[in-house]
Amino acid sequence: TKQAIENAKKNDKNINAFISFDEENAIKQAQEIDKKGIDPDNVLSGIPVALKDNMLTKGVLTSAGSKMLSNFKPVIDGTAVEKMKEAGTINIGKTNMDEFAMGSSTETSYYGDTKNPWNLDKVPGGSSGGSASAVAAGDVLAALGSDTGGSIRQPAAFNGIVGMKPTYGRVSRWGLIAFASSFDQIGPMTRTVKDNAVVLNAISGKDEHDMTSSDKEVPDFTANIDKGVKGMKIALPKEYFGEGVDEDVKKAILSAADKYREMGATVEEVSLPNSKYGVAAYYIIAPSEASSNLQRYDGIRFGHRSKEAKNLEELYVKSRSEGFGDEVKRRIMLGTYSLSAGFFDAYFKKAAEVRTKIIEDFQKVFKDYDLILTPTTPTTAFGINEKKDPLTMYMNDVLTIPANMAGLPGMSVPAGFSNDLPIGMQLIGKPFDEQTIYQAAYAFE
Ligand code: GLN
Repeated sequence: TKQAIENAKKNDKNINAFISFDEENAIKQAQEIDKKGIDPDNVLSGIPVALKDNMLTKGVLTSAGSKMLSNFKPVIDGTAVEKMKEAGTINIGKTNMDEFAMGSSTETSYYGDTKNPWNLDKVPGGSSGGSASAVAAGDVLAALGSDTGGSIRQPAAFNGIVGMKPTYGRVSRWGLIAFASSFDQIGPMTRTVKDNAVVLNAISGKDEHDMTSSDKEVPDFTANIDKGVKGMKIALPKEYFGEGVDEDVKKAILSAADKYREMGATVEEVSLPNSKYGVAAYYIIAPSEASSNLQRYDGIRFGHRSKEAKNLEELYVKSRSEGFGDEVKRRIMLGTYSLSAGFFDAYFKKAAEVRTKIIEDFQKVFKDYDLILTPTTPTTAFGINEKKDPLTMYMNDVLTIPANMAGLPGMSVPAGFSNDLPIGMQLIGKPFDEQTIYQAAYAFE
């Protein structure tokens, strides 16, 4: 643990993957495990990990990448955090992220940009950019991220690591700072597929604190991992290979499809015609939910309190104006507008209808197929400061958002390189069928 922290601190001079290190608690925990001895039946016992800074950690700064929460020390651990602890992992620190998980590059963080360890001029993706960068740099074997529209899978793709967004409800959201509650999901980011399955084993399951967590039985995700893909039916949705997707990225995913055919799977083209409306619908629904979730940061109940205020109204306005960054403010304005009387039917309701259409498309394909294979992102990692226009930034998630819309499990797996930058392929599975994803990913790896 000492060495891991030392190494991570050294790397962080270049990549800034961490907002804070939790050296004291980490060493204490490690010493306790030393005393008890490593549990031989538990592969996670004593393993240093990192946690995204939107997960509540008792007594330890949890900022969600925001000035608003720059002195917030929660009084509890979130459920996933607690489960990681119970499994014996040692959290060495909290990772950098886009403010309140809003972004695709970790550039909206109040704590500075995180760099991509493959090329320090490139972004690590986001919003779980710090977690991805920490894993790719070799700081930790596993980190937790959260994914609302792609925030685990996109940074995993940009950093050449494995990132799983589980089925909505698989992992408790208790103690995850809410962005868009009907999409948010915690998941593991790791170097290898098997490590990923081991961590998902540890954090899954029903939680009485989160009524959207599912009581579906949690299988051992490593159990069938080496069974191969013979007889598996894999769908290639043609809309995910269209305009805007780099030739090198397409080539890598099509060659992955060929590899699956060689291993005995059937791979066929299908259509998911409504996925192209995913980004438009997401940027109505997610900001709407966010505008509601972020009401609590008013300088009184939660968050930064302005020192300039002379009355209550000013206290609210100034605290929020000072505490939130531009992207968060943009989302709050978008959300309150879409939800306001007179606009609700035209925006929120329409977006919800689009969401249903996207879900129905997936249901149709999954009648005949076990998995869907797509690129994770249209391009490899882009440059720091390259995407200044929010709409261009939003388009980055065009291939990951549909799985969130439908609550489906999706994973990004390394699938090659273009100009020395990693390419990710995305495997989307049926609800609660993470196992088949792991099986196919393991066979490919
Ligand atoms: N990039 C998307 C957004 O900005 C998704 C973020 C996420 O998954 N948390 O909303």
